[in-house]
Amino acid sequence: MKDEKPPQNTDIKTIAVIVLACLTGISAAFSVVAAVNGFWVEFGVCLALAVVLFTVTCPLAYEGDTYQCPHCGRKFRVNPYVLLFKRKSKCSDVNGESVKYANLTCPDCGKEDMCKRL
Ligand SMILES: [Zn+2]
Repeated sequence: MKDEKPPQNTDIKTIAVIVLACLTGISAAFSVVAAVNGFWVEFGVCLALAVVLFTVTCPLAYEGDTYQCPHCGRKFRVNPYVLLFKRKSKCSDVNGESVKYANLTCPDCGKEDMCKRL
């Protein structure tokens, strides 16, 4: 079976996603603190920043992910904003490598099942 792992930039991408996710969380937390204390301008700025960071981080986190339908074998890509809210699971295969699954609807056969990430 062909190894489809992307080259080295995966590590940089992973780090970027973690940093951006932390910044999103911090911005969201600051906006809550600002709102509680009545600083509405700061609340708006922090909330806007959190939303912008989220819209950047989410597609980056799932960029290039391809899933395969267990029923018809069709390989497809999913909208990252949709994928974020889908049930996901992770398990190890016989080689000890982790395999990720997501509960998705196949665009070809229309069945909803746990699709394997390739
Ligand atoms: Zn299918």
